[in-house]
Amino acid sequence: MTLEADYRDFRDNIRRFAQTELAPRAAELDRSGEPPHQVHQAAAKLGIPGLPYPESYGGGGADIFAQCVAMEEMARACASSALSLGSSWILSAVVDFGSKDQQDRIVPQMVAGEARSAWGLTEPKGGSDLMAASTKATRTGDGWIINGVKRFITNGGWADWYMVFARTSEKRFGLFLVNKADPGVSFGAQEKKMGMRASPTSDVILDNVIVPEWRLLGDPERGAEYINKALLKSRMQMSAHALGIAGAALTEALRYTKERVQFGQPVADFQLVRGLVADMAIKVEAARATLCSACELYIGGDPAAKTQASIAKVLCSDAAMAVTTDAVQLYGGYGYLQDYPVERMMRDAKVTQIWEGTNQIHRLMIAKDFYERV
Ligand SMILES: Cc1cc2nc3c(=O)[nH]c(=O)nc-3n(C[C@H](O)[C@H](O)[C@H](O)COP(=O)(O)OP(=O)(O)OC[C@H]3O[C@@H](n4cnc5c(N)ncnc54)[C@H](O)[C@@H]3O)c2cc1C
Repeated sequence: MTLEADYRDFRDNIRRFAQTELAPRAAELDRSGEPPHQVHQAAAKLGIPGLPYPESYGGGGADIFAQCVAMEEMARACASSALSLGSSWILSAVVDFGSKDQQDRIVPQMVAGEARSAWGLTEPKGGSDLMAASTKATRTGDGWIINGVKRFITNGGWADWYMVFARTSEKRFGLFLVNKADPGVSFGAQEKKMGMRASPTSDVILDNVIVPEWRLLGDPERGAEYINKALLKSRMQMSAHALGIAGAALTEALRYTKERVQFGQPVADFQLVRGLVADMAIKVEAARATLCSACELYIGGDPAAKTQASIAKVLCSDAAMAVTTDAVQLYGGYGYLQDYPVERMMRDAKVTQIWEGTNQIHRLMIAKDFYERV
């Protein structure tokens, strides 16, 4: 992110943390596929799980811009760890849509890093068509019974709290806080993924899970509205995540091409290499500028933030895929080996075009908005 002075110290602190705690573990976490336990403990000491939560609860009170700065720096060091850490920010929805009682019960755990969170939107029959979700919440005397399966859930089995999107009537949805320990909650096997390997992903299975009334967020008929607002924020965070991967791959490519000698000179001196590097830098900087403007619009309460965030999501994730692929190319044969970080970055980048609304879905939304402007 491009920073005003206010954010510079903040960025430098996060960068130091990311380079000290995340970067040295990235390759090993990718190999082992273990969740980043140590990283989580170190992050909690620095207040990272609490960043988006209000200062009145001991949180960081970070605005969306600062959240994106933090996410970019963490993903630059280790995309999997950054994903796991950022997932703890999901329950800031409790602050946006929940009651004081819910905030008192949930936020302190999140801020202290004592609990982790996840969200359950996608189902086996689909992720793009969110409003076709079939997980059902049925009202009982003093709460709700939830039945359904949520698929591809980041932090599945590792998180304590799951914000579950469930149908409360034929056409309406609610958002529910489900705890890992609730009877009837179980988890599928950990998915074996192409990338983001240190970030756990699994099914969350909800079999007659009884949820007390206090765990319903806001109005049981306004879940779709809440989730769209929450997704707007997370879309910017995850754009920053993709941007971090792209920026890291660009840095690695610059470093390597300056060192690698062919035909008696560093390959960085060849014009074709410089052209490719320039295109990589253009992609990163264009994506960053768009994300910054989406954050500014959001902070200013401008409704144009929605489409700008979609544009940022597409640009940042397409940049991540293209720039990591080009970085592998610039490493030559070594880029294809697991010994060098660009190989991991390329695998990590792919999913950024798929999650948080696939890039096709975002392109549809962008086109719809632009047609409506004329
Ligand atoms: C590693 C990982 C972590 C994830 N974490 C989470 C999580 O924490 N919580 C959660 O709820 N979900 C999570 N997801 C799910 C993710 O959000 C979905 O995979 C994504 O939304 C796409 O849904 P789908 O996989 O069902 O694909 P589908 O919706 O079946 O789409 C298949 C293809 O069809 C295209 N397509 C669909 N509809 C249209 C259309 N109208 N026009 C044009 N093209 C279309 C899509 O772009 C895609 O290319 C995660 C996924 C992965 C891989």
